[in-house]
Amino acid sequence: MTPSAENYIVWIGFEGKTLVLLLFGPPGCGKGTQSRLITNWLHVPAISTGDLLRAEVAAGTDLGKLAKGIMAAGGLVGDDLVNAMLARRLESDDCRDGFLLDGYPRTVEQAEFLDCLLAKRCLPAPILLHLDVPNDALVSRMTSRRECPACRRIYNLLHQRPLKEGICDDDRTPLITRKDDKEETVRERLDTYERVTRPVLAHYDYQNYHQIRGDRSPNYIFEEIVGVLEPFANRNGNSASGTH
Ligand code: ADP
Repeated sequence: MTPSAENYIVWIGFEGKTLVLLLFGPPGCGKGTQSRLITNWLHVPAISTGDLLRAEVAAGTDLGKLAKGIMAAGGLVGDDLVNAMLARRLESDDCRDGFLLDGYPRTVEQAEFLDCLLAKRCLPAPILLHLDVPNDALVSRMTSRRECPACRRIYNLLHQRPLKEGICDDDRTPLITRKDDKEETVRERLDTYERVTRPVLAHYDYQNYHQIRGDRSPNYIFEEIVGVLEPFANRNGNSASGTH
């Protein structure tokens, strides 16, 4: 049975330590959807540097003003700024038992910074889940993507439509198309991924690396992720389903 929020399992550690999970993959590979499913299952926060930056833009902070143009053009925000923003976020109490990073690290420099940060805080090496999707599939996926600006739930007009057109199922907010999901920007983002982000994988060439085919339905992908993570999970109690 696939775990869900109702099928409640408490994550109490990865080999007795804090869980550090990296969700890695090209723009549009489904990281947002999977991080939502993983969070509901494991009750660790999903931290998306893209969402953190969009919040800075919306709040009109100095960082937001700087990031806005870079994001709209499909480039990457400077490492120092993103690293500092992430380090601040990881200080929050909700990260104590573990966290999932979505869209970070995105450069080799960010990966090196994360290594130091984890070592300094005596946190374990991360488990890396790499969602791989062929480039051709990504462009049509992203230009069909819609997002709820309130709860950040992601829909897709190709295969994950909302029940009512243009409206979020969860909170009835009108859905939006992100500015950086326009075709020209999407191609620029994919190019940036190939040049700058894919090389980060070489940094994590070790046993905690798991490649997962992302060109399947979200439920199949999630089942595979559960299969990868379950052996690490120390369940609360010995019941087979973990429900209560
Ligand atoms: P996607 O993964 O679909 O590209 P995100 O929401 O993760 O979307 O990121 C949106 C944009 O935010 C990126 O195109 C980039 O400009 C910026 N961004 C997000 N994370 C990082 C990061 N770790 N380093 C630099 N820029 C980032």
